[in-house]
Amino acid sequence: MKNLKRILILGAGITGLSAAYHCRKLMPDVKIEVWDKQERTGGVLETLNLNGYQIEQSADNFITTVPWGLELCQELGLSDEVVQTNPLYRRTYVVRKGNLHLLPDGFMMMAPTRMWPLAVTPILSPFGKLRAACEFFLPKSRETGDETMAHFAKRRLGREVFERLIEPLVSGVYAADMDKLSVLATLPRFREMEKNHGSLIRAMRAQMKVSRQVREQSQESGARYSLFVTLKNGLSHITDTLASRISIENIRLSREAVQLERKSESGVLYWECTDRRGTAERFDAVIFALPSYETARLLKTSHPKLGELLGKIEHSGTAIATFAFSQHQMKKKVRGMGFVVPKIENSPILAGSFSSLKYVHRAPAGKLLIRIFAGGARAPEMATMPDEELLPILRREMNRNLHIQGEPEYQVVAHWPRTMPQYHLGHLELVQEIESQVASISDVAVAGNSFHGVGIPNCIHSGQQAAESLQKKRGLG
Ligand SMILES: Cc1cc2nc3c(=O)[nH]c(=O)nc-3n(C[C@H](O)[C@H](O)[C@H](O)COP(=O)(O)OP(=O)(O)OC[C@H]3O[C@@H](n4cnc5c(N)ncnc54)[C@H](O)[C@@H]3O)c2cc1C
Repeated sequence: MKNLKRILILGAGITGLSAAYHCRKLMPDVKIEVWDKQERTGGVLETLNLNGYQIEQSADNFITTVPWGLELCQELGLSDEVVQTNPLYRRTYVVRKGNLHLLPDGFMMMAPTRMWPLAVTPILSPFGKLRAACEFFLPKSRETGDETMAHFAKRRLGREVFERLIEPLVSGVYAADMDKLSVLATLPRFREMEKNHGSLIRAMRAQMKVSRQVREQSQESGARYSLFVTLKNGLSHITDTLASRISIENIRLSREAVQLERKSESGVLYWECTDRRGTAERFDAVIFALPSYETARLLKTSHPKLGELLGKIEHSGTAIATFAFSQHQMKKKVRGMGFVVPKIENSPILAGSFSSLKYVHRAPAGKLLIRIFAGGARAPEMATMPDEELLPILRREMNRNLHIQGEPEYQVVAHWPRTMPQYHLGHLELVQEIESQVASISDVAVAGNSFHGVGIPNCIHSGQQAAESLQKKRGLG
């Protein structure tokens, strides 16, 4: 691919923008063009500023245990904007029989660091607690293959801890069906803990001995909040800054790729991409930074096998409603950043987040922003439910849990159908097959949240890797 002169990047979410930015750095002589079907850049990332409130419509922070998010912020000159979660509220509630209870301190997604808070929690029955404590003594599995999240969690900690703690915590993040979700593709570190220490409890205790960070986390519960950060001006500031660095004339908005054809002229292969208005343009290479089912649709004619494999990755969707209240309207006094709702509670809500307690800059003094999540694999229809049906359901449930009085000052709904890829059992093998197919095509790279992690830093990294792979393929000629 020595004659690489023009690259098309499909998708102007964080992945596509990161790929475009990296292409410009690696191959300054090559022209790039980014297409997105929406009128704005950012994909699912969208920050709204309304009368002193800062509302994140989807992702609201990112993890710092992998470097790519913070590194990009530094490179873009945004480090001064990075803020950590409020240390006063780094705990999570779990709903049991309609009431909020604090998740036992030190319970991190799938493993307890401290046994006493687990022993006294009202969330579990005495039998459930005893069964969880037995995890310390259970031998490790000899199996090396993958298993579902539900199977792994029940096997180690018992059904009750799975249903009451793990299922709602993991569902709150991945909007997934635990009976299908792959533990190795989603949270492999817990299988590593079992493998290396024989038990999750023993692994956490060993980590506490050597790591001050893990000792500090044992005062928290839920999603390891001390490891998450956001930006003072909102996450859209990352995508807006990337877009301005790429230069806006290279970004074509409201431009949806509807067809992609492989063509050749004088023995030279190229791609012809046609948009919804029927305008076709020629490119030497394409980076797909789209949901994998969109990439599948565009590639199915030229590369049917690859299209078929990409089409196998399922996606779930959610709806998020954000409400602004005065603090005095919420009669329940809270000490956490949010709450999760177990499936067995049969609630229409997946989780709730006290957005302005998590990051104080998000609401004026005396005000409160609450985000309520619904949908996921539990209730996919809620992701697209009309607002006039959805809002009364969510408000009724929220008011019941949080004892809220009166009307909200604002309510904003965001619908995200088919945005959360589901890493089901077999995902790692499927991705391996997809990547080996892509490696054999000299002028294509695929990136995004469908493959190696849904978090923002992973998406940034996958965009960078897509740019690097085209640079390498170019070198190979
Ligand atoms: C509700 C929600 C909450 C989340 N919370 C967090 C969080 O707190 N922390 C975190 O790290 N991650 C979170 N995530 C995950 C993370 O935000 C996403 O994985 C990431 O932003 C996806 O970026 P992307 O660029 O790969 O995809 P997208 O943002 O989906 O971008 C893809 C783009 O492709 C465009 N497109 C689609 N088809 C075409 C076409 N045919 N032609 C042209 N353009 C097209 C779309 O318009 C879109 O702009 C969350 C995700 C969701 C949905």
